[in-house]
Amino acid sequence: MSFRSRISPSRREFLGNLALAGMASTLPASPLFDAPASAATLSPAAAVKNRVPLAPSAFYPLPLGSIHPAGWLKSQLQIQTSGLSGHLDETWSDVGSNSGWLGGSGESWERGPYFLDGLLPLAYLLGDTRLKTKAQKYIDWTLSHQSPSGMIGPSSNDDWWPRIVMLKVLTQYQEATGDPRVVPLMDKYFRHQFAELPSRPLRDWGKFRWQDNLLSVLWLYNRTGSPYLLDLARLLHRQGYDWMAQYANFQYTQRITSEFLKLNNEANGLKDLALSTHGVNNGQAIKTGPVWSLVSGSPADRSAVLKMITELDKYHGLPNGMFSCDEHLAGLDPSQGSELCTVVEYMFSLEQSLAIVGDPALGDRLEKLAFNALPGTLTDDMWAHQYNQEPNQVECSLHHKPWTTDGPESNLYGLEPNFGCCTANFHQGWPKFAASLFFVSGAQDTDSRDGLVAAVYAPCELRTTLRGTAVRVVEETSYPFRGTVRLTVNPASPLSFPLQFRIPAWATGTTISINGHPEPRPTAGSFAQVERTWRAGDRIELVFPMAPRVSRWFHDSVAIERGPLVFSYGIGESWVKLRDRGMTADWQVFPSTAWNYALEIDPTAPEKSIEVTEAEIGPEPFARSHVPVRLSVKARKLDKWRAEDGVANPIPQSPVVSDRPEETISLIPYAAAKLRITAFPQCKS
Ligand SMILES: [Zn+2]
Repeated sequence: MSFRSRISPSRREFLGNLALAGMASTLPASPLFDAPASAATLSPAAAVKNRVPLAPSAFYPLPLGSIHPAGWLKSQLQIQTSGLSGHLDETWSDVGSNSGWLGGSGESWERGPYFLDGLLPLAYLLGDTRLKTKAQKYIDWTLSHQSPSGMIGPSSNDDWWPRIVMLKVLTQYQEATGDPRVVPLMDKYFRHQFAELPSRPLRDWGKFRWQDNLLSVLWLYNRTGSPYLLDLARLLHRQGYDWMAQYANFQYTQRITSEFLKLNNEANGLKDLALSTHGVNNGQAIKTGPVWSLVSGSPADRSAVLKMITELDKYHGLPNGMFSCDEHLAGLDPSQGSELCTVVEYMFSLEQSLAIVGDPALGDRLEKLAFNALPGTLTDDMWAHQYNQEPNQVECSLHHKPWTTDGPESNLYGLEPNFGCCTANFHQGWPKFAASLFFVSGAQDTDSRDGLVAAVYAPCELRTTLRGTAVRVVEETSYPFRGTVRLTVNPASPLSFPLQFRIPAWATGTTISINGHPEPRPTAGSFAQVERTWRAGDRIELVFPMAPRVSRWFHDSVAIERGPLVFSYGIGESWVKLRDRGMTADWQVFPSTAWNYALEIDPTAPEKSIEVTEAEIGPEPFARSHVPVRLSVKARKLDKWRAEDGVANPIPQSPVVSDRPEETISLIPYAAAKLRITAFPQCKS
């Protein structure tokens, strides 16, 4: 099916997929939109594979709308809907009714598209009519205001960068709705860009984020096959920044200082040195090798993603899975921060890279970011966020340390601390993760071997079609808080296909059983595959052992992990409102207890020194008030480890000696502790 009938859904199908009774009034008056929706048209779309001569991907994303969140994940998305994501346009004028992306004279650059890049998938994952109607206003304005030249977006600027974001929005929207206006608009836009780039080349953000432009070009090529799109892809590659060269010989191995950034003075535009060491740019760049490898066919390009992550981990890696970027690469000290935009862009890069490369380590990292760094930098109700989060975050207050170039508000929880990019951009984190739980596997030129891939784990229901047969998979799990994942496979009629499961690298001893019968033990850090004729009601149970583990960080400090969760000591928190901000507020958080603990732990057998206590998942899955899992460890206070200006001093080199009495302290999921110690000194044994 991979090359057949990918576009031109009928108007009936389009309206059926919208499934929006109230939408009719927002759609343009056109004979295209006069047919009533029909339940018969709601059969899920199949995945679209790479069209030759593009190289094959290991897996293919499913169209938005195939995966329906359930359980705690659905609760999390509903919290997001009730929080800032569902109301941002009502309280923040940058994406409000005067937005340039609605034809107004207000903000006309990246903020409108950023907001939609999360609002749109959130709306369609939940089937939320209110959010769909909100998103549709911006979509309709964009679709109905293309200039005769092919340009899209506000006429007040012609920057390629914000359009790169809006194109990502339009591809998701087309997949969810089949709106027949999207493909022609994108084709006209890319023809314009192809003609214009030689005289008006990529610059600034667009030059450093060209791989996201490429992603939408290849999305369209897979649907139309127009040869000029491959020439446009090569032109973007030629004009874009060479990220693969940067990481083939990585030079930025130290904390980037403002003095270093001043070395590079260019007369025109933003400075390349600043942009190439910028956290968000690097987060977006992680997908460059895999996406470009679809055009180049080069295995070295494809595996460049692993090299990039290795270099970032080695010189800037933090125990929450992030690299430091506050807002340039900032070294290994766990008191340095990571910008929220980088968290969600790194996640999106991993989702794209995991599909193309098929390396399970990319899924491991994606889960680490999704279950730790993402919720850890947002309040539990998702009404406030930080610009920078720190693994060792002992105070959130107005201070200049330890940031290099960011301002004193950078780790407050609020509406737009430091700068409003994250306010507009954070919305994509959870929805795109939810949309990436399953992929399709199979050959590029035939669907006869197509199968399904459980890529990352959270409760959901998958509805898709394999070789014309509707298949429904129900995933029931409390992962990442528990290690058991139960899947029920329901094909409309018995169907033979391979089903793959990602076995995380930490999950040695995983068991798989089918209808109660054990399968051969899978290898940790692999995709396990079961191929059989599946019948409705077939049950699969995966059990991932969740023994606590110790990982080693800056100055030989230790962090405790269990499954995909990272654990932190939750410092007592005193929340002090700094000011009201429309429907939300800005908050400082001050420590109300000591935090300077060193752990008494045997890293060779951590399970012997760590006690695990489990509880039910609460209504806010990552909230401190209902922690689903808690670890008890022995610790001693370390008097010489202090804070200055609201920041923990560099963590003392381990092992350390303390003559303070031994205490038992409780570690909770990283995200539950908004003030926290995550990397601990280790006591000398
Ligand atoms: Zn940001």
